Amino acid sequence: MNLGNVLIRSDLNVPISNGNISDNFRIKQALSSIYKIKKISETITFISHLGRPTGFDLNFTLKPIAKEMRKILDEDVVFINDDVMELSSIFQSEYSSKIYVLENLRFYEGERESDTQFAKCLAKPFDTFILDAFGAAHRNHASIIEVGKYLNSYQGPLMNKEINELQSLLESPNQPYTVIMGGAKISDKLNLIKNLLPKVDNLILGGGMCFTFLKSQGYEIGASLCEDNFLNTAGELLNSRDGKKIILPIDFGVTDDLFSSYRNDKPLKELKVSDIGVDIGPKTVELFSKIVHSSKTIFWNGPMGVFENESFEYGTKEITKSVSESKAYTVVGGGDSVSAINKYSKIQNFNHISTGGGASMELMEGKKLPGVNIYEPLII
Ligand code: AMP
Repeated sequence: MNLGNVLIRSDLNVPISNGNISDNFRIKQALSSIYKIKKISETITFISHLGRPTGFDLNFTLKPIAKEMRKILDEDVVFINDDVMELSSIFQSEYSSKIYVLENLRFYEGERESDTQFAKCLAKPFDTFILDAFGAAHRNHASIIEVGKYLNSYQGPLMNKEINELQSLLESPNQPYTVIMGGAKISDKLNLIKNLLPKVDNLILGGGMCFTFLKSQGYEIGASLCEDNFLNTAGELLNSRDGKKIILPIDFGVTDDLFSSYRNDKPLKELKVSDIGVDIGPKTVELFSKIVHSSKTIFWNGPMGVFENESFEYGTKEITKSVSESKAYTVVGGGDSVSAINKYSKIQNFNHISTGGGASMELMEGKKLPGVNIYEPLII
């Protein structure tokens, strides 16, 4: 098998501040099969988006990513910031290296609008296209759904793994199966909750989203995060046939100021009008950990509290530890949970960490993603 000149759509969208990459997890994942692909190709050119620029904006350049790739691979990686429409002539004149990285695709309207001409120009210098950007598979962009039409195209190894892992959580998880959900808003995760509730044995809810559920049952939640528009839906879910599977916190860390270090732990029933619930309390950690340790499969998404503030990180830290120590098959989805793992545990302590935030959520919601399973899987 020789793939010739290969174009790979990866997800190199990593957090960067002042030109420094604070978490290179996605880059490392994107490079995990590069040695195998190198053996069967002439050149490899990576394309990706970074952030959400709406035009040419150097704050979103992929240059630091090319530099990081050079460091990780310890070999030459050429960064190309010439216009995609001129790509063909550039590649014909200089194949100086084996590995290339093109500038941020979202600088181009053609990418964002999935323009045919843009996709054709992008495809022109190459023989093979590999779609390996699971984190962007929910986007109808040229590099996801259009460019592959003009090349010999495959679904990449990382994407195959992501899809298999998440699909097996939807179809055949070992039971007891526990889903732990946190984060800020119930509105973002409602479809996910609805799709997963019939499939799980336990649905643990923490973070800001649990307060809407608690308020729907008449509890005083003080000034904690609440989405009043969803009170009825939350109540209906709790009262539904599967509602008994939902496990809510029984005590909280509360404060009177989100930006202070003041924290007081108290039982749910003692919350006052002025209290802001910012974390789960120790009794809840005990309750949730017991369920974690009796589970065979765990899917975790979203922090248990405002973990960015050290005074409110306790619950997220403890649940990260519980999940990493459990004997269950553990899958983690979403950006904030990955930050928590990097802070309080190690990536290696989990069976699978999804590189896709929005895309993993949509797949787990049961949606059909535009970029999933449109090409034959590349088996190498
Ligand atoms: P999400 O992007 O929906 O997963 O939400 C992640 C964010 O939820 C983090 O920035 C946390 O600070 C925030 N969060 C978690 N728990 C709470 C809470 N009790 N109140 C307010 N925000 C929270």
